[in-house]
Amino acid sequence: MSWRCSAASNSGLVENLYRSNLITTTRVRDAMASVDRAHFAPHMPYKDAPIALGCGTTISAPHMHAMALSALDDYLKPGAHALDIGSGSGYLVAVMAKLVGPAGRVVGVEHIKQLNDAGEQRFKNAMPDGNELINRGNVEFVCADGRLGKPGEEFDAIHVGAAINVVPDELLAQLKAPGKMFIPVGDFAQYIYEITKTESGQIVREKKFGVSYVPLTDLDEYDNSGDIIPVNFPSVS
Ligand code: SAH
Repeated sequence: MSWRCSAASNSGLVENLYRSNLITTTRVRDAMASVDRAHFAPHMPYKDAPIALGCGTTISAPHMHAMALSALDDYLKPGAHALDIGSGSGYLVAVMAKLVGPAGRVVGVEHIKQLNDAGEQRFKNAMPDGNELINRGNVEFVCADGRLGKPGEEFDAIHVGAAINVVPDELLAQLKAPGKMFIPVGDFAQYIYEITKTESGQIVREKKFGVSYVPLTDLDEYDNSGDIIPVNFPSVS
């Protein structure tokens, strides 16, 4: 599916993802159209493929961002609280911030410090109100082990951008009732699970489709001494 969605501009890419039904809501389409991927991907920002960020990490492919945001859209309404584990480039934090609006809150958790700092800087470059959102606490980039989530908070929507064998209890506990999580589960064979916590607190797991993500694991399994590939300026879309 993916190769058909690549384009020469951000708007072209988003339109292709929407026409291919990978983006399934107009809210997600408009939010992705308003955040230029060129601020987050070091090169080929409009190619529908994962792109290396450095330190053994990648910004996920646009079709994965599209599917994750579409799956979580009902839980990313204005005022909602969202958590992005393994926030990497910062791209999803930015689009989620658009979706939840100025009354919402988005927390990105990334365990590689250089990448977390770069993600925050990319976010500030991409969003005209980026500094304000961070200063007001609407958006926070946290350098920590994402398997623990963001202790002390609960979220309407949780996105996990790296794969793990067992869904951490901490993340399930931090999901509001109702709330929804999008998470790749497995090692060699990985599948996306959509996990919904109902209003009564019941956990419903749906196995969706096979994927290939980097692992949600210990810091020393990554090349965290390496360099982050810089993004100097966005290409015009
Ligand atoms: N959604 C991000 C995906 C980045 S790749 C994007 O599209 O930009 C997955 C990220 O998960 C990597 O940046 C990696 O460093 C991070 N990661 C892996 N294990 C982690 C852990 N235990 N805690 C926090 N982040 C982790």
